[in-house]
Amino acid sequence: MELSVIASGSNGNCCLIRSNGTSVLFDAGKSFGETARRMAALGKDIRNVDGIVLSHAHGDHYQGIGPIARRLRVPVYVRQEVYSACRKRLGPVDVRHFDGSFRIRDLMITPIETAHDVASCGFVVGRFGIFTDTGCVTAQMREVIPDLDAVLLESNYDEEMLMNGPYPRHLKERIASDFGHLSNDDAGDFICRHGRHLSMVFLAHLSEKNNSAEKVKETFESLNSDQPYVVCSRFRETGTYRLD
Ligand SMILES: [Zn+2]
Ligand SMILES: [Zn+2]
Repeated sequence: MELSVIASGSNGNCCLIRSNGTSVLFDAGKSFGETARRMAALGKDIRNVDGIVLSHAHGDHYQGIGPIARRLRVPVYVRQEVYSACRKRLGPVDVRHFDGSFRIRDLMITPIETAHDVASCGFVVGRFGIFTDTGCVTAQMREVIPDLDAVLLESNYDEEMLMNGPYPRHLKERIASDFGHLSNDDAGDFICRHGRHLSMVFLAHLSEKNNSAEKVKETFESLNSDQPYVVCSRFRETGTYRLD
């Protein structure tokens, strides 16, 4: 099984999980062309995608889904309330609703509770976890992490940069709330307490204005561990991680 990070950040999110010939995109915030180009740079062919799973109705996650799903003629897997919130912007697509765990060919996908300002979820697929867009670490995230080998985890903002940054106060409060995003310290703390066994951590969804790759690295280096991690790029594909 392998996880490829295609796009990450408030300007578009997308990753690919592949296992035994099944390829599934999780969110698609970039255009068809950009997604195809980035996948090709990682040696992946977008035409092999079997389905697209949407976490929540924010544009940085769904923007590319309609065009990609129509071009590839693949279904879109989405919770009912998430679909209701963005059906117009998705346009005509072959929708499959999920509630609990579901299967796309031989990939079993389990939604995981996150805490965001709209209906949202993370995912566990085999021994991979995808946890982005959550204002706090949820009980379910803590519950499943011992069984995982690698996670894609949001590390959205540096607390000082957010507080001293250009955003209006209400937006700062939303981001820092329990229904906003995880800070670098939140992500570091979660990994420190619960993720020491992980063989890889992708630190994802960095804010443009309130974070930098250097700040994320600083936080993770200060954990004094030999924790393997990668800071996901806001500008290009990040890479592929394989589990044997
Ligand atoms: Zn997002
Ligand atoms: Zn969001």
